[in-house]
Amino acid sequence: MSANMCASCTFFEDHAANTAKTLEGAGLCRFNPPISQPEADARGLWPVVKSEDWCGHFEKEDA
Ligand code: SF4
Repeated sequence: MSANMCASCTFFEDHAANTAKTLEGAGLCRFNPPISQPEADARGLWPVVKSEDWCGHFEKEDA
């Protein structure tokens, strides 16, 4: 498996900022601003990605 996955990307955040709930093996992608604001008085949510996911914006996390 490639090491260029979300878990080692600088934009991956492994704690919960959307809700108090955490998903095992998943985190938030901070590359883009929050999305999917469902109601005018609701806030947007950070996309949830799995640790082993990847995308073309991958950038290696500083050691
Ligand atoms: S979706 Fe892309 S930019 Fe976001 S954490 Fe994963 S590899 Fe990084």
